[in-house]
Amino acid sequence: MTKQISSSTKVKSLSKRTIAVRSGLNSDEQHGAVIPKISLSTCYGFAEFAKPRSFDYGRKSTPNRDSVEQTIAALEGGVDAILTNTGMSAIHLLSVALLSPNDLVIAPHDCYGGSYRLFNSLSQKGYFKTQFVEQSNEQALKQALQQKPKLILIETPSNPLLRVVDIQKIAKLAHEVGAIVVVDNTFMTPILQSPFELGADVIIHSCTKFLNGHSDLLAGVLVFKEQSLADDVLWWSNNIGTANSSFDAYLLQRGLRTLSVRVLTQQESALKIVNFLNNHPKIAAVHHPSLPSTPGHDIAKKQQKGFGSLLSFEIKGSADKTPLFIEQLKIFTLAQSLGGTESLISHPTTMTHSGISAEARKAAGISDQLLRISVGLEDVNDLIEDLEQALNAI
Ligand SMILES: *Cc1c(COP(=O)(O)O)cnc(C)c1O
Repeated sequence: MTKQISSSTKVKSLSKRTIAVRSGLNSDEQHGAVIPKISLSTCYGFAEFAKPRSFDYGRKSTPNRDSVEQTIAALEGGVDAILTNTGMSAIHLLSVALLSPNDLVIAPHDCYGGSYRLFNSLSQKGYFKTQFVEQSNEQALKQALQQKPKLILIETPSNPLLRVVDIQKIAKLAHEVGAIVVVDNTFMTPILQSPFELGADVIIHSCTKFLNGHSDLLAGVLVFKEQSLADDVLWWSNNIGTANSSFDAYLLQRGLRTLSVRVLTQQESALKIVNFLNNHPKIAAVHHPSLPSTPGHDIAKKQQKGFGSLLSFEIKGSADKTPLFIEQLKIFTLAQSLGGTESLISHPTTMTHSGISAEARKAAGISDQLLRISVGLEDVNDLIEDLEQALNAI
């Protein structure tokens, strides 16, 4: 399939910050518009009989989608990318494209709730088989790999406890049995973690989160290291119809320009909040890859380029303190997404993880007091003051 490469993202040696800022700029040859146009047409005229141009039909590819795909591929160091209408549809597309009924998927026992539900429900329908494994447990992992899975999904840091697993080690073991290694890099973004350098074959993002960063669109992306795999999956993308709109692709490109500054500032603020909570007498525990008490801290130090802006914590005492605390907050919004410019707080028991049984939550270490924060771009002093006044009030 022909794809137009945006001129500003072709240069491999540019820093990620520059690649993101210059995404799709100066691509208008007619008027010299600096910012790319939104190309709403669903179909494209053929150059002549039997000669399509770069684009023919919008389900397959559009200029706006193509431009964002090239940018995200460049940011991750991949050869190609496929943009989809949600993160879940990216994972679904990959599953449909790669898996047959006898194939086994190994997924993390604590993976994103939507991924857990998708793998579980499709397995129950017989599309493929799934085994959920605690991937930091080397013995359990090796045992699962003996069944020669077709695909292994790695997600690190985990949600909501921010536990880190060793991508390089897991990828090496998985490759020994011929599995395709897929890393969900949503939490880290290409700025803070480079899964291809650690052995991944495919990278997934929910662009709904940090890549767009403004909580105003849904999108997902698959990034590939090998063109042949990308071409197979692209055929399926067109076959199923997983495309997103040109308008959303345009907005995503707009959000991407500030990716590096957002991610770096948000994680700087997160470190200050972690420090504040960790020293507060009313806090029982703080979970963040920067802390030696969080499993995988040593791996995070070598594997990640930073510790990220997601953290979770538990308030001391009875569970009724948690809703009281949330009620007192003036800045943080009680909502369950992440990676936006606005700071959000969520309560896994009643929100993201409410579909999981109480016993399973307990086994996974998710208490009813656990709260997760996605640190935004507000002044960190205001955020800390907000947390402090709410803690003082309970
Ligand atoms: C949100 C999320 C997804 C799903 O993405 P949607 O865009 O909401 O469909 C997948 N993986 C992780 C880690 C996520 O945070």
